[in-house]
Amino acid sequence: MILVLLGPPGAGKGTQAKRLEQRYGLAQLSTGDMLRAAVASGSPLGQQAKEVMDAGRLMPDDIMIDIISERLDRPDPVNGYILDGFPRTRAQAEALDSLLSRKGLKLDRVIELKVDEQALIERITGRFSCKKCGAGYHEQFQPPKVSGVCDVCGGTEFTRRADDTEETVRARLEAYRGQTAPILPYYRERGALSEVDGMADIDDVAAQIEQVLNK
Ligand code: AMP
Repeated sequence: MILVLLGPPGAGKGTQAKRLEQRYGLAQLSTGDMLRAAVASGSPLGQQAKEVMDAGRLMPDDIMIDIISERLDRPDPVNGYILDGFPRTRAQAEALDSLLSRKGLKLDRVIELKVDEQALIERITGRFSCKKCGAGYHEQFQPPKVSGVCDVCGGTEFTRRADDTEETVRARLEAYRGQTAPILPYYRERGALSEVDGMADIDDVAAQIEQVLNK
């Protein structure tokens, strides 16, 4: 099964992708996580990515298409993939179609997490994650059960994404509106798109996605 999760920054793509990984034995392919790993490694790609991500812009299509193509070539003992953060432009969506067909794979469903833009700034600027295991939290909506201690692994160090500042979030939303939202009709026209209410709570959104996938 190959799924694409679409939606603006803060819509909950990463959170839902993690749920789907466990529920269906899929692997989350987050291009944002791949770029953050490149930034942490200090590679030339990482240096370019840092500049682009800090400004809230998008990386060039050819680079992102190569990254995904190479990742899909790796053998994986999984039932399929959840693409989280890719495609983000029409050129990436078209490239995904051709690279999947070249690899003998098929895109099963594109799920759009629909959210109210006003709520996103608050969601994003309050989020943080455990440094050790990556579990995600939110200051207001999902704090750890014991303050300062990760529920999952007991870690006590947390981190915030460098691009989760209000200014950068506004630029990222602009990029979503201008470059990513226009690919929704591309999928809708061929009947591949399902919309889910991303404003509901995490379990409810997961249940809606499950319903779509079980249809
Ligand atoms: P994300 O973690 O998905 O919010 O991605 C963080 C940042 O990485 C984005 O704001 C972009 O700068 C960059 N990025 C991630 N995926 C892509 C992509 N498919 N195309 C272009 N830029 C991307």
